[in-house]
Amino acid sequence: MVKVLILGGTTEATALAKRLAGHPRIDARVSLAGRTKNPVLPPLPTRIGGFGGMGGLIDYLRTEGIEVVIDATHPFADQISANAAAACARAGMPLRVLTRPAWVAGPGDRWIAVPDMAAAALALRDLGDTVFLTIGRQEVAAFEAMPDKRYLIRAVDPPEPMPALPRMSLILDRGPFTLEGELALMRGERVEVVVSKNSGGRATDAKLQAARELGLPVVMVERPAGNGVAELHGVEDAVGWLERM
Ligand code: NAP
Repeated sequence: MVKVLILGGTTEATALAKRLAGHPRIDARVSLAGRTKNPVLPPLPTRIGGFGGMGGLIDYLRTEGIEVVIDATHPFADQISANAAAACARAGMPLRVLTRPAWVAGPGDRWIAVPDMAAAALALRDLGDTVFLTIGRQEVAAFEAMPDKRYLIRAVDPPEPMPALPRMSLILDRGPFTLEGELALMRGERVEVVVSKNSGGRATDAKLQAARELGLPVVMVERPAGNGVAELHGVEDAVGWLERM
């Protein structure tokens, strides 16, 4: 049996876990950060919580006798990905990133690409009053730099601490979202601009279609640079790679 650690927290990680459950030659376990209060638990042994930095991750890999790591975390989870790259390099352990393609603007899209959340906040200056923030809960404080707008913040759990924004409302919800639902929400709330991370994937792309149909601009935060780790393209690619170990 090959002992595998999947760094999870995404739909891709859960899909890979489902595919590997009961596999005769691959003994996989999943690690979650513990960010969401009610995580979707994968059907494999799962640990929850940080490792305590790169050193803690190396200790975990050794103690558990892990032989291979798959980093299936979110494209914006750059700290854990950097730790995994450094830990596996130190331990001489094979590592691959399982990610999803970034979204690409198509005809009719009005995207403003920005490198980070601080730039996203600044980009809002001339883009309308009501802002739909679909960036999760961890970085909303960046928008305190543009406090005069009305913010509609959608996240799985409430931001902690709450940002100091005088006109904000919270929508607690978890994808997948539909085009009809996004259109109704954006029309009903009179959204004028959407802010998104370029997460990629189907679960949350309906907001981009809705923005296109409504002619709204999207401030799109581009992905952080990777760590030069080779990528796997989809669950079957990952299973094939593991089966060749
Ligand atoms: P991050 O900034 O890269 O990680 C911060 C710290 O959280 C890491 O240093 C690590 O703590 C711990 N951590 C992160 N992922 C972990 C995992 N899978 N297992 C164990 N510890 C983990 O990541 P983040 O942005 O906080 O995201 C946390 C999790 O939420 C990730 O699994 C990610 O896939 C998921 N997620 C993130 C986003 C996003 O936009 N950032 C969106 C959706 C889902 P130690 O240093 O103590 O090991």
